[in-house]
Amino acid sequence: MSTPRQPLTETILRGTSAPVRAVLERSLEGRELGRADAEILLGALGRDLQVLCSVADAARFDDVGDEISYVICRNINFTNICYVGCSFCGFARHKHEEDAYDRGLDDILARCHDAVARNASEVCIQGGIHPNKDGFWYRDIVRAIKAELPDLHIHAFSPEEIHFASQRCDGMSLRDYLTMLRDEGLGTIPGTAAEILDDEVRMILSPRKLMTERWTEIVTTAHEVGLRSSSTLMYGHIETPQHISSHLERLRDIQKRTGGFTEFVPLGFIHHKTRLFNEQGSRHGASTPEDLRLIAVSRLFLRPWIKNVQISWVKMGLKLGQVALMSGANDFGGTLMEESISNAAGSEHGDHVEPDTIERLIREIGRVPYERTTTYGRRVRPARAEAPLNLELAQARPAGERHGVALPSGY
Ligand code: SF4
Repeated sequence: MSTPRQPLTETILRGTSAPVRAVLERSLEGRELGRADAEILLGALGRDLQVLCSVADAARFDDVGDEISYVICRNINFTNICYVGCSFCGFARHKHEEDAYDRGLDDILARCHDAVARNASEVCIQGGIHPNKDGFWYRDIVRAIKAELPDLHIHAFSPEEIHFASQRCDGMSLRDYLTMLRDEGLGTIPGTAAEILDDEVRMILSPRKLMTERWTEIVTTAHEVGLRSSSTLMYGHIETPQHISSHLERLRDIQKRTGGFTEFVPLGFIHHKTRLFNEQGSRHGASTPEDLRLIAVSRLFLRPWIKNVQISWVKMGLKLGQVALMSGANDFGGTLMEESISNAAGSEHGDHVEPDTIERLIREIGRVPYERTTTYGRRVRPARAEAPLNLELAQARPAGERHGVALPSGY
């Protein structure tokens, strides 16, 4: 991290409050921020917020330059049947509900072939915790895809799914289970199901879900066997700045030990159709200042350990996503092609963005787009025509999904 000359620092920080100024000065000097620093920045408003975003944007330039990456990927949610009961989730269904679905291997494979025909390099596969599945179901998905599409990167199975599946696999240890998935062709895992890594908060959001230490164990073990992962945090519900700073510190500590996180993705809570908001009185999801603060604070707090900060356009929308990319973020995320989790909770930002649109949005803010692989290599796209949207597959989705009822905010 470079240290700008003092007069320039003075100009940049003019008009900020003393506490925010002190933290930003430390950051500009290249010093690692502590939890108390993050908590001060998480309260930034007005001039403090503007300067926080500018400093985070300058840090982003130092860390990764002016390029903005994106990935061509297709989401596949193989079932929405889930009995875990997270209160922030608008996606899960019980199996007798009209719009419950459980896709078989043929359906999943058809979606993978559709992804490849549309130039995807990755499929992101997650689903509800279906009580009738065993652990080998997850292996069979990976095995079937790799048998037909060996070059397609499989980014699949949240720590909650791995927690569930590894306990239903003939007494296999967690490490052996993850090794088996890796050997079958699993490429990376999503660092979802993290929400807020604090057990008091988790007991309110989802008491039947894996707790903080188990999430940490699964992600760390995945990294140790060579399965890298993303990292996430869900904000805008009942959490406090102290919960966020503790969560970020945990992620940074894991990264110092394993180096396995590919990126950090802050996920704003989509509140509309959730029990957490409608019955338990959570906040109204993430506000615009919260969206920008989370991007900026994560850039400053996680550097230099996690260099890629991703926006979630499906949570914040494309235009605010552009602002977030000028406030510390450097990755646009993916095309998704089929998003059904945020939409289920009431997001109105759609479920697909074409690569050309992503590149235009990036150029509009004066930055340089490039297509990446899941692990942030540069992808040279195969030279063949891209297939159009497969309307048959799109229309085969349950009505609730098509009309914007989609995965929960923590995905
Ligand atoms: S968030 Fe995931 S685990 Fe929780 S209820 Fe929804 S689908 Fe199930």
